[in-house]
Amino acid sequence: FIGLGNMGAPMALNLAKGGNEVYGFDSDSSIKLPEVIMTSCIPSLLKEVDVVFTMLPSGLIVKDIVNQFIGDFSAKSTLIDCSTIDVKTTKDLYKILHKRDIYMLDAPVSGGVQGAKSGSLTFMVGGSTRVFEKFQFLFDHMGNRAVYCGETGSGQSAKICNNMILGATMIATCESFALADKLGLDRKAMFEVVSTSSGYSWSMNAYCPAPGVGPKAPSDNNYIPGFSSDLMLKDLKLAQNAAIETQANTPMGDLAMKLYKDFVEAKNGSGLDFSAILKTFEA
Ligand code: NAD
Repeated sequence: FIGLGNMGAPMALNLAKGGNEVYGFDSDSSIKLPEVIMTSCIPSLLKEVDVVFTMLPSGLIVKDIVNQFIGDFSAKSTLIDCSTIDVKTTKDLYKILHKRDIYMLDAPVSGGVQGAKSGSLTFMVGGSTRVFEKFQFLFDHMGNRAVYCGETGSGQSAKICNNMILGATMIATCESFALADKLGLDRKAMFEVVSTSSGYSWSMNAYCPAPGVGPKAPSDNNYIPGFSSDLMLKDLKLAQNAAIETQANTPMGDLAMKLYKDFVEAKNGSGLDFSAILKTFEA
């Protein structure tokens, strides 16, 4: 398991708790996990294993690791990349690995750090069905659901489409609260109506951006993430880059990306939960 950060560490631990022998590597050598056999370098990890999970910050880093250590992968081993990265890099990696007889699945996740800890992630998986079925049991140790989405890159496609909807609905929910405030409408009354009417969404019903309204969410904990605004911006950028490459028409996704960029880079939103964008509209 390469990349033992906020997500990777609990995922690797759940794999180990499931009875698998797990070797771990992270460039931050201070990271130690009790049930994971820590290795000091990637080649020594690769030669021990037949499946390699990566949970890394960017496509560039995943690509660097594959390019640098391609000769160290065991023959017929499988790379399962759970990072959220761009579709093109995923497809390029598949081709590089395929030439060396190494299999690959893209398997980004939804569910956040809480889902990683509790083993309730949803995996969105792209690649061969045969490889997916072979490793389904590993997804089961870390999550509740693994949805097979289609050929290589389909998992990443599903992830960025989902998060483009999430970013846009969060903003729509926040600006509705701002309008409700101006109209003198009580926020709890607004929640009661919208959460049971046609304006409902996950952003309103499960993750309400207004504190003290609806079920417990990061808004009730000073907007400590949760899912950070920085990661939302990352995913919205991936979605817009994919839209440009495929000439898809996504004006709402584009505006959501610009609003999160402004929030993160100019309005102190970095490090806060993505629901904190409510502050922009309150201001
Ligand atoms: P993180 O920054 O907490 O963890 C990344 C880890 O990778 C760090 O421990 C870092 O030291 C390590 N790393 C960086 N470069 C490395 C290298 N070259 N070799 C080995 N290790 C290296 O990030 P995270 O929150 O765990 O997110 C990981 C991935 O999961 C990202 O792609 C993110 O978009 C995605 N994701 C995150 C969440 C979330 O809520 N945090 C939810 C869904 C998806």
